[in-house]
Amino acid sequence: MVNSSFFARVSEGDCIGCDLCEERCPMDAISMDDVARVNLDRCIGCGVCAVVCPTEAIKLFRKDKDRQFVPEKDLFTATMAIHQQRRET
Ligand code: SF4
Ligand code: SF4
Repeated sequence: MVNSSFFARVSEGDCIGCDLCEERCPMDAISMDDVARVNLDRCIGCGVCAVVCPTEAIKLFRKDKDRQFVPEKDLFTATMAIHQQRRET
């Protein structure tokens, strides 16, 4: 039910493994190894992780054009579009 045109990605060389992004992610999309890892199947591109990262290791990037989210004109149309998209993936 949540979609955006962005996703989070970690620059492994800049990550210090502080765990702040994992604690703040509302989708449980981040797990910790030596560095943070983003599960793109759960990431909604909200950007909360990027705001708290002390080294700017995790940032948002725009999805490829064919994966970008264009808002629908009303809630019903939006709900149907998301449902259709999930059926296709
Ligand atoms: S963009 Fe949002 S959902 Fe994605 S990893 Fe960061 S905090 Fe989690
Ligand atoms: S907040 Fe930044 S430095 Fe800390 S674990 Fe996440 S990506 Fe790495």
